[in-house]
Amino acid sequence: MEFTGQDLVYYNALIKVRNELSEQMRICADETLDCTNSEKRGVTTHMADSDTSRHEMRLQMLTEDGNVISLIDDAIERLANGEYGICMDCGEKISEPRLMARPYAIFCIDCKSRHEEMMKNR
Ligand SMILES: [Zn+2]
Repeated sequence: MEFTGQDLVYYNALIKVRNELSEQMRICADETLDCTNSEKRGVTTHMADSDTSRHEMRLQMLTEDGNVISLIDDAIERLANGEYGICMDCGEKISEPRLMARPYAIFCIDCKSRHEEMMKNR
């Protein structure tokens, strides 16, 4: 698949985030494994605490915007279909600075803030 111009810029940004996340996930998975092993060996509560916070960090990474890696895959598909950068909610274009900061964004900043407000008020 070949991208040109701005599409290529977004594509590279997506791939970069994807690689970083995959790497992070791999490290997290390894550490979780290690922690489970140490637990079996009966280590202190202190270790268990750090295990929990790491686990929470990992969950946060997965839930902040849903599963980011699958969002990235979807974004690449939309890029190929020429539908990239369109807000899934209002259909407006998502601003370029927002896409550069979060290339996998599926909502424009207005809709995103509206969703966050709704979550808070739930
Ligand atoms: Zn929108």
